[in-house]
Amino acid sequence: MDIQLSKEELVIINKVAEAAAGLNRETYLVGGFVRDKILNRRTTDADFVCVGDALELAQLTAAKFSPAPSVEYFKNFGTAHIKINKQFDLEFVGARKESYSRNSRKPDVEPGTVADDQNRRDFTINAMAISLNKNDFGKLIDPFNGIQDLNDKIIRTPLEPVQTFSDDPLRMLRAIRFATQLGFTIEPGTWQGIVDTADRISIISQERITDELNKIIAAAKPSLGFDLLYKSGLLHIIFPKMTELAGAEYIDGYGHKDNFYHTLQVLDNLAEKSDDLWLRWAAILHDIAKPATKKFEDGHGWTFHGHEAVGGRMVPKIFAKLKLPQNEKMRFVKKMVEMHLRPIGLTKENITDSAIRRLLFDAGEDFESLMMLCEADITSKNKQKVKRFLENFQFVRMRCKDVEEKDHIRNWQPPITGEIIMQTFGLSPSKPVGMIKDAVKDAMLDGFIPNEFDAAYQFMLVKGKELGFTPL
Ligand code: ATP
Ligand code: MG
Repeated sequence: MDIQLSKEELVIINKVAEAAAGLNRETYLVGGFVRDKILNRRTTDADFVCVGDALELAQLTAAKFSPAPSVEYFKNFGTAHIKINKQFDLEFVGARKESYSRNSRKPDVEPGTVADDQNRRDFTINAMAISLNKNDFGKLIDPFNGIQDLNDKIIRTPLEPVQTFSDDPLRMLRAIRFATQLGFTIEPGTWQGIVDTADRISIISQERITDELNKIIAAAKPSLGFDLLYKSGLLHIIFPKMTELAGAEYIDGYGHKDNFYHTLQVLDNLAEKSDDLWLRWAAILHDIAKPATKKFEDGHGWTFHGHEAVGGRMVPKIFAKLKLPQNEKMRFVKKMVEMHLRPIGLTKENITDSAIRRLLFDAGEDFESLMMLCEADITSKNKQKVKRFLENFQFVRMRCKDVEEKDHIRNWQPPITGEIIMQTFGLSPSKPVGMIKDAVKDAMLDGFIPNEFDAAYQFMLVKGKELGFTPL
C-alpha cells in the first residue's frame, strides 16, 4: 500500500509491530488512520486491532519507548490507550464480533477474527486494515472495497444499512459528518437506511450527538451537513428549533426569505473567514428567534422585531439542551446573537462618535468577531447590493478604528466602580448603585464629560444627589 508516513509515525508503527511479533499476536492498523493516510489527511490518532489481548500489546509497546508512556485501560470497552509525546493517540483493541439485540443498546461482544472486527465497522472506508504481521507487513486488507469508495468519494455501510444504523444509530450522524468533512456523497441505499432509521437517534446520548454536530460545524462547508441532517429528518429530532427556521410564507404578495437556508449561507460565509467554533454557533443561532417574533404588518410585510434580544435569551436554553458548555463560550454566543444588528445601525450617514463609542464599548474584545458575523450575514444574490453592504461595513470599521485610536474604548473600564459608589453614599449592593454607575458610563461614552476620574467622580456625586442620596 502506498501511503506517506512521517518518520515519527514509522517509528511508532514499527514498535507496535515488534511488540506484536514478540507476543506472536496478529495485529493490524485499522479504521480512521488507514482512511486518512490514503487520503493524505492529517491525523494524530491511530487504532490497532489484534487477535487476542489488547492490553498486553499496549503494555509491551509502551515499554519500547523511553520514558515509557502510561497505558490507560478502559475495561468497559476492552480498549487500551497510550499517548505519545502529547500528540499521538494510540488505541489498541482486541478483534471482536458483535451481535445486537433489538431491545438493547449494548451489543453482545465476544472475541473474534480480524474479519469479524471489520464487519462491525461503520463504513467501507473505515473498515480497511493494514497488516503489521511479518508474513504480509503493509498489506491492505479491504473486504468491502473501501478503496474504491474512497476514490469515488462515497460513504457506504459494509453490511445492510438499516441493520447497521439500528445497531448503533450514532452511525447516521457519523455518515453525515464524514460526508461533510470529506466532501463525499452518501450512497443511495445507505441514505435510504438513514431516512428509514432516523427515529432511532433518540436512544443516543446528547453528548455523543453534540460531538458529531460540532465536528460538522467545524468542517470547511458546514451547510453540507446541515442540509443532509434536515433532509434525512435527523435535525427535526436532534435540534428541532433550527428546523423551525425553514420555509417562507407569502401574504398579499409579500414573502420573506427561507431563514434556514439563509442561516446555512451565513454559516458557510463565516466558515470561510473563521475557524472559531463558537462564532460558528453564533452564526447558526443569530436568527433563531425569527419564527418566534415573526409578524405580518398590513401594507408593510413581514417583520421580526426584537429577534436579536429574544434570540439572545434563547441561547442559554439551547446550550443546556444540547449539553454545550454553560460558560464564557455560551455568553459569547449570546452576546453575538444580541448584537448582530448593531453595526447595521451604524452604516448610515451622520453617525456620531458617541454611537461608535457605544458599539466599541459593548462589543469590547469581541468587536472583530461581531464584524465578521455581520459581514457573513450578507446573503443577497444581488452582487451590487453585496458590494454596497460590504462597503458600508468597511466604513463602520474605519469609523471605529478612528474613534478607538482617539478614545481607547475597547478595553476601557469605567473609572467609577460599584465599590466607589457604595462607599461614597454608604449604600449596599442595590439597584441605585447600578443606575449611578450606568449614568456615569453613559455620560463618558456620550462625551458629556471627559474621560477622566475627577470629572466622573463629580458627575457621580450629582447623580447620587439627584436620586436622593447624600455622600457620607
Ligand atoms: P475521526 O477520528 O476523525 O473521528 P475515525 O474514523 O477515526 O474518525 P473514530 O471515532 O476515531 O473515528 O473511530 C475509529 C474507527 O472505529 C472508525 O474508523 C471505525 O472503523 C470504528 N468506529 C468508530 N465508531 C464506530 C461506530 N459507531 N460504529 C462502527 N464502527 C465505528
Ligand atoms: Mg480516529
